[in-house]
Amino acid sequence: MRTPHAVILGAGHAAAQLATSLRQQGWQGDITLVGEEPVLPYQRPPLSKAYLAGQMSPEQMLIKNAAAYEKAGVRLRLGVRALRIDRAQQQVRLSTGEVLDYSALALTLGARVRELSAPGAQLPGVFHLRTIADLDRIKAHAAAGGCRRAVIVGGGYIGLETAAGLRHLGLSVSLLEAMPRLLQRVTSAEVSDFYHRVHTEEGVDIRCDKSVQRILGETAVTAVQCEDGETLPADLVIVGIGVLPNLELADAAGLVVGHGIRVNAFAQTSDPQIVAAGDCTEFFSEAHGRLLRLESVPHAMAQASCAAATLCGKPVPYQAQPWFWSDQYDLKLQMAGLSQGHEQAVVRGDSRQGRSFSVFYLAGGRVLAVDCVNRPKDFMLGKKLMAASAEVSPDALADESQELGRWLSTTETHTP
Ligand SMILES: Cc1cc2nc3c(=O)[nH]c(=O)nc-3n(C[C@H](O)[C@H](O)[C@H](O)COP(=O)(O)OP(=O)(O)OC[C@H]3O[C@@H](n4cnc5c(N)ncnc54)[C@H](O)[C@@H]3O)c2cc1C
Repeated sequence: MRTPHAVILGAGHAAAQLATSLRQQGWQGDITLVGEEPVLPYQRPPLSKAYLAGQMSPEQMLIKNAAAYEKAGVRLRLGVRALRIDRAQQQVRLSTGEVLDYSALALTLGARVRELSAPGAQLPGVFHLRTIADLDRIKAHAAAGGCRRAVIVGGGYIGLETAAGLRHLGLSVSLLEAMPRLLQRVTSAEVSDFYHRVHTEEGVDIRCDKSVQRILGETAVTAVQCEDGETLPADLVIVGIGVLPNLELADAAGLVVGHGIRVNAFAQTSDPQIVAAGDCTEFFSEAHGRLLRLESVPHAMAQASCAAATLCGKPVPYQAQPWFWSDQYDLKLQMAGLSQGHEQAVVRGDSRQGRSFSVFYLAGGRVLAVDCVNRPKDFMLGKKLMAASAEVSPDALADESQELGRWLSTTETHTP
């Protein structure tokens, strides 16, 4: 009989976790990890934070070093793209021409950047940001003599983190957001207004309701022209306008895909022999009553552990609560839950001055989600309130003289 062989396609956060979890869950067979990027799996979040600011080396970015994969018996095929999955033959064809037989297959293909379609977006000096190679190019460009003015396109977390990083490097920074406010897709007006204020205080020129018409320049970028006719001079343009999940391989193999590769609570695709995890998946969340596609490291890791358990014949349903973080300047934002559909946003602390507050999002009198800036204790207790499905009073939440913890213990006593 052939040795069981787990093949993992994609070598990012979910893949590294899946390989580790397979061994922890007792997978006895071979494991091969195939990744298009020519480097060991690394942490992506620091790219727009400490790595951009020059505070982390490439080695410090690694999720594990080469020796750890070797010790776990994980074979690495890096710099190699998976081209086709043959489900009938249980084989994967690679860009090297090699064909891998699998008995279990995992898709951890992540997402790629949504590219700016404006004319001039291909000019040297215009960058998108997803990989460590992108960051190395951006840092080299920013360090070159004469690079002083940056324009960032997109006021989401990545755009804002990049703005903070470039200010740290001493560049003048303008940021363009097409929507009326920053972070509009992902958070409340209170949090958006706070980040608008802080970035302005830090010297970033924030422009909302502002779309790019074209990028100007002959041999390299010299300016960004906006749809309202204004032109902003630029030596460097960084685009952060979202991502597209990598679905093509699964789609071509006949797996069910929607906005992500569709998986069930056990991370199985429509072919139960194939699991998927991370940014490339979508799944039905019982708690939220809808399909979700999440882009976060905690999600990628939790779903990957769940996928590994399934492949080892020890299925456990995926029920993790979504959470996320963002670091900008001296601010640590921690978010738990999804605030879409909230009826009321209650601010604890003052978001209009200072740099520490929390927003609790309520629906039906219960905490649906929480955003905390420099308030780790509120974050921890907010997650507990969510998990306990505690009924809360908005006035009590807003009143800082009332301890969240004391209130939680009352709730816990009364929760069956
Ligand atoms: C700049 C930046 C900052 C971020 N900050 C945060 C943060 O603060 N907090 C947070 O929670 N999340 C953050 N994220 C999101 C987080 O990094 C992702 O959610 C996470 O990386 C998802 O992991 P993944 O394994 O699903 O996908 P990825 O990490 O994208 O890995 C997928 C890998 O698969 C490879 N691949 C794709 N197709 C193929 C193929 N056909 N063959 C072989 N290989 C293939 C890709 O090249 C990639 O290396 C950030 C992302 C970026 C880009």
